[in-house]
Amino acid sequence: MKLKEHPLASFAYCPRCAAHDFTPSGERAMHCEQCGLTYYANVASAVACVIIDEQGRLLSVRRAHEPAQGTLDLPGGFVDPLETVEEAVARELMEETGLEARAMRYLMSLPNVYPYSGVTVYTSDLFFLVEVDDLDKAVARDDAAEVVISLLSQLRAEDFGLSSIRQAIAYLIEHQDLILPTRRAPLEP
Ligand SMILES: [Zn+2]
Repeated sequence: MKLKEHPLASFAYCPRCAAHDFTPSGERAMHCEQCGLTYYANVASAVACVIIDEQGRLLSVRRAHEPAQGTLDLPGGFVDPLETVEEAVARELMEETGLEARAMRYLMSLPNVYPYSGVTVYTSDLFFLVEVDDLDKAVARDDAAEVVISLLSQLRAEDFGLSSIRQAIAYLIEHQDLILPTRRAPLEP
């Protein structure tokens, strides 16, 4: 994927010495002629939780804040400094829904562009299939305005406002066999 514009285009001053002599250096860095700093726009890691029960119902949340306020989303968010990705999955799920992650499995990643307060943040969104005890116990908190539980087969990808999440939902709707929990065989008498 080619960058549309320099990721630090809106940064006019060096963040270390405040010199105005701060100019693009390659596709994703800025260089300060005064103090010599080369500052890179690194991609931020973010996580998204895919939670589906045995009836094929998916847990989603309505976004309480911009960007894409009011659209559907998966529970998740940015990975904190010095935190594992798995810790971020469990923390974000708890913060937004009050649910405890019992188990998780990595599914896939998608690049995303996240407009934040006029600054473009490039993210690597990491999708995890997460098991919980009972998704009906989810309560909307923090960045979530509402919990929405619906059959994956009845979801529309376009109701999800962030592009990587929308792509992931479209993929999951098409590949439900990959993610639906394996039904337990009845016990032999
Ligand atoms: Zn400088």
